[in-house]
Amino acid sequence: MLKSFLNIPLKISFVFLIFTLSSFDLKIGILDNKHINRFTVSPINNTTLIIGTEAVKSSAKFNIYRDDIKIDIDGRIKFEKQIKILSDGLFSLKFNNSERYYKGKLSVQRHGKSFLIINSLDIEDYVKAVASAETEGMDSIEAIKANVIAIRTYAIAAMNRHIDEGYNLCDLTHCQLYIGFEKVNDKIIRAVDDTRGMIITYNNKPIWAMYHSNCGGRTETAADVWDYDTMPYLKSIDDRIGKKFFCSGGWAYRWKTRISLKKFESFLRNSIISKNEKFLKIDNVNYTEGGRVKNFNIVTDKRKINISGIDFYHLVGRYLGWMAIKSTAFSVDMDNKYVIFDGKGYGHGVGMCQAGADEMGELGYNYKEIIRHYYKDVKLKKI
Ligand SMILES: [Zn+2]
Ligand SMILES: [Zn+2]
Repeated sequence: MLKSFLNIPLKISFVFLIFTLSSFDLKIGILDNKHINRFTVSPINNTTLIIGTEAVKSSAKFNIYRDDIKIDIDGRIKFEKQIKILSDGLFSLKFNNSERYYKGKLSVQRHGKSFLIINSLDIEDYVKAVASAETEGMDSIEAIKANVIAIRTYAIAAMNRHIDEGYNLCDLTHCQLYIGFEKVNDKIIRAVDDTRGMIITYNNKPIWAMYHSNCGGRTETAADVWDYDTMPYLKSIDDRIGKKFFCSGGWAYRWKTRISLKKFESFLRNSIISKNEKFLKIDNVNYTEGGRVKNFNIVTDKRKINISGIDFYHLVGRYLGWMAIKSTAFSVDMDNKYVIFDGKGYGHGVGMCQAGADEMGELGYNYKEIIRHYYKDVKLKKI
């Protein structure tokens, strides 16, 4: 969940009905960015897999064929416009030389030259799969529990985001990373089962429970990143209780990146400045109270372009990779060969710092204390 929260609706609508349900299915749009025009599903272990009305013994192949979907179930062929797949356990989905493991139901239909695949599954299963992708590298069970509660809460807060496309959430970092069940381990299962149905609320509503890898010592106020203030619980805090910063032992707590002027200018030409301009320097860097770059000027031989820190971070991430500029908490310097970024932390810095949460857990704080450290004036509630 590092890259994009740019599409957060200004007004959060929330269905109170959710509070009366202990468990429910989420619809996740999967693999939409993979441009799949053929895939194979197969049951794993003792799973019963039913496609339409037919049970699948070994595998079923799906192909885009003219206006239809061509389905080959253990050698029997049929053509459909759309079809449902039911399962009572794990099954595999193979596509483009990759394989992922899913649970629940799939609804498959044509979507231009590829498929629209919607995976419906129990929210608790979804949280396990997302936690396996989003909490990699965390060791403390209490920190994983805190992160699991944030994942569940975020899923509920964001569940109207893709409603117009026919599902609740996508499987990318735009919502939360959902890559199936391959990496789900015992620790994650325990963290999810022990916190079943628990979410974080503010004013009785689920919060936008954002989290990121490493805050660099100070988290960021949401309003200073995204320009609107509907999330009073996402306030900049020092990531410590006492002297030592919780995330100071974490990877990317401090980082330095040198980008050659040539490479930097080619990045600028592809994203911000035009071909006939020459990049001269960066100046007028403004910082937020949380110590992140609010905006700065890119000065060329023709003009000054003001850009926000978060837009710059996303552009660099897309063009030079997410390891180049790891956060917007940086200072910038230049010599005659390089642009040098001196930075703190990894990710947008809003909400829970995963490296800090992990250290808090190691130091004996429990998941409730971890949640209250990173999200202000919130309550925990069971749905
Ligand atoms: Zn999404
Ligand atoms: Zn931190």
